[in-house]
Amino acid sequence: MSDVMVDVHGVHKSFGPLEVLRGVDLRVRAGEVTVILGPSGSGKSTLLRTINHLEKVNRGWISIDGELIGYRRSEDRRAARRASVEGGGGRRAGKLHELKEKEVLKQRTHIGFVFQNFNLFPHLTVLENLVEAPVSALRRPRKDAEDTARRLLERVGLADKTDAYPRQLSGGQQQRVAIARALALEPKVLLFDEPTSALDPELVGEVLDVIKDLASTGTTMIVVTHEIGFAREVADTVVFMDGGVVVEQGSPAAVLDAPRHERTRAFLSKVL
Ligand code: ADP
Ligand code: MG
Repeated sequence: MSDVMVDVHGVHKSFGPLEVLRGVDLRVRAGEVTVILGPSGSGKSTLLRTINHLEKVNRGWISIDGELIGYRRSEDRRAARRASVEGGGGRRAGKLHELKEKEVLKQRTHIGFVFQNFNLFPHLTVLENLVEAPVSALRRPRKDAEDTARRLLERVGLADKTDAYPRQLSGGQQQRVAIARALALEPKVLLFDEPTSALDPELVGEVLDVIKDLASTGTTMIVVTHEIGFAREVADTVVFMDGGVVVEQGSPAAVLDAPRHERTRAFLSKVL
């Protein structure tokens, strides 16, 4: 069995009286691509935000590369340890490390997040967008960060846009910069929240092509998207969420072509 990179176990999350995640389990192996599908409001973005520690969970636990975050209750901590010891619990099975608050911030720098609306720094050039975090958060020498940035921009096909400002780029180009910027932090896992939803249809392909290229080189990714064709082609695992739970998950063929649950069938009939 390959290494587990992201392990989400029994995660609950409420906003006031609204229970948005109602016991989510998800396991993503290193080098694999997981695509999450589900209707609006089903908790997909909230799940990504808990994985990135932007939201604290109320119950359950999450480990990233064997480092435990997110538990709030001692019984969750015990359950996490047990799962870890009993195997399949991560690359450092039995040695799940509990992160302190400061370490959580550090770990977050190794979790890439690509948003629907790109979220580039508008006042910085493309190159500066990629250099900023490695220099300020990882303390990389500026020269090294710039070399890495140029290499990444080449990889996403934007070597000629180094000195442009975000507003001078198309949406597709801005999103490719955002992906390169996430990669500049050498993430253990890349999270995408509907990365092509804000794009004109003719620009969707260029962004999906970049994500496909990353998938082929073994980048661990969780991608929330409504692009079923992409899921079919790229995902190792497809997860269908509804009402704050994982309704079903499996290979693209299993979930997309032979869904077992009525809710999955109803959703797919709307988006296919
Ligand atoms: P999805 O990404 O699947 O569309 P979300 O995770 O964004 O779903 O949202 C799930 C539910 O949680 C929605 O009803 C949304 O309004 C609610 N929600 C999300 N974030 C917050 C928040 N910070 N405060 C209150 N409610 C929230
Ligand atoms: Mg969302």
